[in-house]
Amino acid sequence: MEDTIFTKIVRREIPADIVYEDAETLAFLDVKPVAPGHTLVIPKKPVRNIFDVDDKTLAAVMRTVRKIAPAVRDAVGAHGVHINSNHEAAAGQIVFHLHFHIIPRHDRNEFSFWEQKETASRDAALLAEKIRQTIG
Ligand code: AMP
Repeated sequence: MEDTIFTKIVRREIPADIVYEDAETLAFLDVKPVAPGHTLVIPKKPVRNIFDVDDKTLAAVMRTVRKIAPAVRDAVGAHGVHINSNHEAAAGQIVFHLHFHIIPRHDRNEFSFWEQKETASRDAALLAEKIRQTIG
């Protein structure tokens, strides 16, 4: 995998406001936060996203997300967090090194969820069947 800006942060080649580190993961503040305290959690190992990450690396990343989410919430006096992650450009991934966003939220009115649509139950049943058959 090619170097990304996050690999450079892992190697301390560029600065970051690091909040947590262990053998497998690193967490640092997002340089353009959606809200104060917006933190990114990454594996030190360079994996692109959910489509190539191995179970052990993902488990380590999620352990760190779980560990620091309450600290992110409490440090800014928030009441909840979004835990968000984008995978491939079509889904908004800009930095191609797996990462989870932890975004503190104070109030339900600060944001709107994406638009949802009704689905005919037959369409849903067909899609569910297709996904079941495609799981490797
Ligand atoms: P995305 O790939 O769309 O999930 O988001 C990448 C995130 O990385 C964005 O929220 C950026 O603001 C953030 N970002 C990019 N470069 C840096 C950096 N050098 N330090 C901290 N955050 C960064």
